[in-house]
Amino acid sequence: MRFPTTPLVCHVLLLETTGGLVLVDSGFGLGDIADPAGRIGWFRRVIRPAFDPAETAVRQIEGLGFRAADVRHILLSHFDYDHIGGVSDFPGASIHVTSAEAFGAFQRPTFLERRRYANAQWIQESTLVEHAPGGDTWHGFGGVRHLHDIAPGVLLVPLPGHSRGHTAYAIDIGEHWILHAGDAFYHHSTLDGSGRTPLLLRLQESIITFDRRVMRNNQQRLLDLQQLPGSNLEIVNAHSPVLYQRSLRRVGG
Ligand SMILES: [Zn+2]
Repeated sequence: MRFPTTPLVCHVLLLETTGGLVLVDSGFGLGDIADPAGRIGWFRRVIRPAFDPAETAVRQIEGLGFRAADVRHILLSHFDYDHIGGVSDFPGASIHVTSAEAFGAFQRPTFLERRRYANAQWIQESTLVEHAPGGDTWHGFGGVRHLHDIAPGVLLVPLPGHSRGHTAYAIDIGEHWILHAGDAFYHHSTLDGSGRTPLLLRLQESIITFDRRVMRNNQQRLLDLQQLPGSNLEIVNAHSPVLYQRSLRRVGG
């Protein structure tokens, strides 16, 4: 998608586990491409998604020789349009979110959350798995929950701020860990502390944020984590094309 001057991506992770395929976030999906006005409304004119079927998670997964039904779980960072659009392409998958995020979407939404999460309503409650904060810590982050039932080495790491129940996911892929931080930050410069986030992106980040103080605090903690010497951790987010390209180079894509 292309926010006024800044091209963005929807970075979705695909994990191949012994229990089937697992997605982290789902980007936009075929349903959004078929009905952009109905599914995304006026917001599509702001973010201007590319809407190429070949870029959807389901088409890329099929291109790898799998079927949509092979995706058993989708781990959502939060319920915004650009993270849940692909969910309807995988009707057999269980959808995982934090309890706080589900609360803000379905139970006691604020006025802004009602507008923000209009589309979350089409997620079937029967497929939704809510996770309360866990009792573990990971690199100083609290409330961590090991998702053993999905696969060993998959951790839910709550990072609220962008939304009420926003969460990251940490994945042990053997040679290193990946932290998918969702929308905890938008621009790659957040991880080097240079403060070079473009003004428009900063504005967008700020306008939509549920709790700015908590978000800034978590961004500082991610910066500290990134700068740990000898770290065996790759931090990615949902929308940075720089971090996405860096990941592709790392896997030889
Ligand atoms: Zn987003």
